[in-house]
Amino acid sequence: MSTPDSSSRIRYHKRTPTGLTKSEQASWDPKILSLWEKCAVDENSDKENFQKTFVRHVTTTLARSAYNIDNFSAYQATAHTVRDRLIKRWNDTQQNHTEADPKRVYYLSLEFLLGRSLDNALLNLGLKENFGEGVKDLGFRMEDVLDEEVDAALGNGGLGRLAACYMDSLATLDYPAWGYGLRYTYGIFQQRLKDGYQVEFPDYWLNFDNPWELARLDVVVDIQFGGSVNEYTDEKGRTRYLWESNDVVKAVAYDVPIPGYGTKNCINIRLWNSKPKRQFDLGRFNEGQYEQAVQEQMQAENITAVLYPNDNHMVGKELRLRQQYFWVAASLHDIVRRFKKSEKPWSKFPDQVAIQLNDTHPTLAIVELQRILVDLEGVSWDDAWDIVTRTFAFTNHTILPEAMEKWPVPMVSYLLPRHMQIIFDINLIFKDFAKFFGSEKFINVTNGITPRRWLHQANPKLGDLITEVLGSKDWLKDLSLLKKLEPFADDKEFKKRWVAVKRSNKVRLAEYIKAHTGIIIDPNALFDIQVKRIHEYKRQFMNILSVIHRYNLLKKMSSKERSEVVRRAVIFGGKAAPGYYIAKLVIKLINSVADVVNKDESIEDALKVVFIPDYNVSVAEIIIPASDISQHISTAGTEASGTSNMKFVLNGGLILGTVDGANIEIHEEIGDDNIFMFGNLADQVEDLRHAHRYRDVPIDPALQEVINDIEAGHYGDPHIFSPLIHTITIGKDYYLLSDDFGSYLSAQNLVDEAYKDQEDWELIKALPKNTALTFLDPNNNNLGGEGMTF
Ligand SMILES: *Cc1c(COP(=O)(O)O)cnc(C)c1O
Repeated sequence: MSTPDSSSRIRYHKRTPTGLTKSEQASWDPKILSLWEKCAVDENSDKENFQKTFVRHVTTTLARSAYNIDNFSAYQATAHTVRDRLIKRWNDTQQNHTEADPKRVYYLSLEFLLGRSLDNALLNLGLKENFGEGVKDLGFRMEDVLDEEVDAALGNGGLGRLAACYMDSLATLDYPAWGYGLRYTYGIFQQRLKDGYQVEFPDYWLNFDNPWELARLDVVVDIQFGGSVNEYTDEKGRTRYLWESNDVVKAVAYDVPIPGYGTKNCINIRLWNSKPKRQFDLGRFNEGQYEQAVQEQMQAENITAVLYPNDNHMVGKELRLRQQYFWVAASLHDIVRRFKKSEKPWSKFPDQVAIQLNDTHPTLAIVELQRILVDLEGVSWDDAWDIVTRTFAFTNHTILPEAMEKWPVPMVSYLLPRHMQIIFDINLIFKDFAKFFGSEKFINVTNGITPRRWLHQANPKLGDLITEVLGSKDWLKDLSLLKKLEPFADDKEFKKRWVAVKRSNKVRLAEYIKAHTGIIIDPNALFDIQVKRIHEYKRQFMNILSVIHRYNLLKKMSSKERSEVVRRAVIFGGKAAPGYYIAKLVIKLINSVADVVNKDESIEDALKVVFIPDYNVSVAEIIIPASDISQHISTAGTEASGTSNMKFVLNGGLILGTVDGANIEIHEEIGDDNIFMFGNLADQVEDLRHAHRYRDVPIDPALQEVINDIEAGHYGDPHIFSPLIHTITIGKDYYLLSDDFGSYLSAQNLVDEAYKDQEDWELIKALPKNTALTFLDPNNNNLGGEGMTF
């Protein structure tokens, strides 16, 4: 990430109560000023002040009275009380940034998977204890209040959650950072199960008011599509181009404050909402064409209506391209406007602005900045290109071919005619581009997660234990401090408490599972968890096939033999893209296997299978702290990083994984004892695929047996599952399930063996040993330093 170096970090200094600078204050009428100061937002965070504000919000914001507030109203009133403080900090932060005018970093992401905000804001603002007590006095449990919040689910999975984690860390590290994204009316769909199949429901997340955003109805950018490019000669005799169109929609800003932990820095994610340029076509309306009159409005609002629900899969819809340009153009307009306020020359742009592109989704920003500089600002092509290449940095998320964005030239030419020309011109200088992006431009940086949400918030008991043992909460800002826990790995008392925390997290998950699926699992069983988007490359299919294998073994055992095996609860969760037929069949198979296994009394509860519906951030917060082992078993060479592997390890869970993505670095950090690795390596994949394609490679016999069971109808109508089986047989086993199945089963046996020895299954070993994996450029010219990964 070509970001501001650490000198750009802004130490927050206290503002005047009015929020004005000293010089601005000097020009004010002292009488008004002192009145203003008296009335400034009361940042006092004691219990009584909280309760006063809470009651005021119940009465005025919610227009309710004391005798009709339920948990949801209590949530809303608490959220608004926190929001008041957030806005104050956020305003002060922006004032500080305006005054200091540092280099800013802009994170362009089509997805921000934020989840819930209240608990996180309470922690980061240091309000958790006082507000918790304040709520209790008023007759509510903070847990219930927090549970009322609807997730902000404006993302699919890892890519969107990474953006959310980065924003938390950027705020915490005092960076002057901005996020830019889209305010989708509908986020990722809600997943329900019907007869074991996934069904999708719309995510009505804005049904009630959203206290975590501020509508900036005055921040509006006109965005055009289509039209034509007109050539003209400017006053200096140069050939210039002007793109003109009548197809214009408005981008309206909604700001989401992101508070840092242990700092007053509070940064902003600006999400754009599309609105029609003209509310209504009055001419049409007068002609009685009511429907056509509203049509323009509807088309404009379409742009930000829905998040595309595909993870690692490209669908070349025109509306998606419109979304991308709409978002990129509005964001760049905003960034350029902010730069121009400082009246610096264009050559200084890269010293003031770093733009990080989260995947290829915002790559039109590169073309758009070139267009703004050349067409609108009159900068020469070469100077503009120099500025552009020094401004942008790009994060790659995948090498899966089906995920690569490709747009038809006619579609781009029609929607963005001037951009198409510029792209052709950039392609002409591609040889320079290749030189520019020499090897030193590529930096391998492992992703990271925020420990505030994924340890302290998701696992408060473990967080409290760590804080107690280390004597402070400093580890929340400096994870390397967790090293100091190592001496306690052999401390009996500490271990006992550690195990008790894990146990209570397992009880919490078992209760959640019972409430949401009706399935009863024993907290003493080994919790074996695979939660992530359902995808062939992530191989949930291989997992459920191994569950069938285990089930068969259990059935063959005598009761005595069975009493000696480790009892397992195999837990799945994750959404399949609505159009991804094979992934949806995997969900159906998991549920069909669960139906058979869970009601088979002959195996005496030695195995349970669960599919938890609607996996999202707040469900992840319950699942992850309860794992004994989690599975990250993608075919080698397919998972760029993965981040849930880090979340599990941070909570003291072990990993069963392939030599892929960040499993590799995690292995280096936590050592052989805490991770079970198996499977073919990435450099063998090509040969294996070739073998499947051109030779008759026999299927692994254990796998064949399991396939036979499915085909024999042991798990319902076998015809349902034939397309799934065919991915291995007719489909030539592209993801190499057969090649890895044997070593997968062996690794599973090692897991059982290790778990039997409960003394040794001391999860403390799994705690990250150091923070070597800072999340950006190792040359220090970066956002690292916190050890944000783990
Ligand atoms: C972390 C996270 C992911 C990413 O999981 P991977 O296993 O890394 O693919 C997806 N969804 C949610 C809700 C998450 O919190």
